[in-house]
Amino acid sequence: MASDDYRRLLDATIRHLESLQSQGVGFVPVKAETLSALSRSARAAAPQAAVRAAPAPSAAIRTSAAPARPSPAVAVPVVTRGPAVQRPKLEPAARKAAFEELRLRVLACTRCPNLVASRTQVVFGVGDPESPLIFIGEAPGADEDLRGEPFVGMAGQLLTKIIVAMGLSRETVYIANILKCRPDTPGQTAGNRKPTPQEMATCIPYLEEQIDLIQPRAMVALGATAIEGLFGKTDAGVTRLRGSWLDFRGIPVMVTYHPAYLLRNQALSVKRLVWEDMMAVMDRLGMAISEKQRGFFLKAP
Ligand code: SF4
Repeated sequence: MASDDYRRLLDATIRHLESLQSQGVGFVPVKAETLSALSRSARAAAPQAAVRAAPAPSAAIRTSAAPARPSPAVAVPVVTRGPAVQRPKLEPAARKAAFEELRLRVLACTRCPNLVASRTQVVFGVGDPESPLIFIGEAPGADEDLRGEPFVGMAGQLLTKIIVAMGLSRETVYIANILKCRPDTPGQTAGNRKPTPQEMATCIPYLEEQIDLIQPRAMVALGATAIEGLFGKTDAGVTRLRGSWLDFRGIPVMVTYHPAYLLRNQALSVKRLVWEDMMAVMDRLGMAISEKQRGFFLKAP
């Protein structure tokens, strides 16, 4: 492609991305081969740079790929929750005290009157505030609302199995939800509903405080609502984003399916996809992965 054509295309692409950004779009999924082709075109255009400076790439566009294996698609966060946050490193005792102060504040929260009226209790989070890894789900369901702990129902038991298969435990990771109170379901006697954007926006500062205190080295976003809560609305579904590393204020976030999806879809191939995502997380954290672990879900036992 001629360099002027390439630059016109690049200008138009940047304008389009900035337009999407102004509309609140959180991600633009781009296939790895597309990025590779763009990179080749940029190199081809480079000799012309002395004649006409190429437009600077948008500083908002950042990407990182899973190190354990090539990702089928690279999700490019156009907007993250913000730039990398300089978090003060608290001593364990100070961190514990700050965490307890936050927990008491969240347990007494009344920001969403409808949820306050319907909830049994606030579901703050569970696990080790010193952990390098946080799992983030959607919102408490009926079981969690009763127990006051995230991921204790059927989906939670499956998540626990996944964590154990990684060589970890619920006590050595941290588990939290985007929303701390169960979404109400007026007129319904059973079932859950997805949190509204307003509810998520109201509650997300608490999760951000948890993340800032824990300072994990990696996070796992479980399902589409976790992605939306962290990064805002995106037209790229979890199927396209899973297996990719996103960036939440400087913290790498692996996207994978919610365990409830695995309960509905028992296909070995889907379990393997989630397991590959977890191996990418283990790799990122510098955890050893045994040959036995590498073979999980490759064939039926
Ligand atoms: S969902 Fe979050 S913001 Fe709303 S009442 Fe519960 S703790 Fe407070």
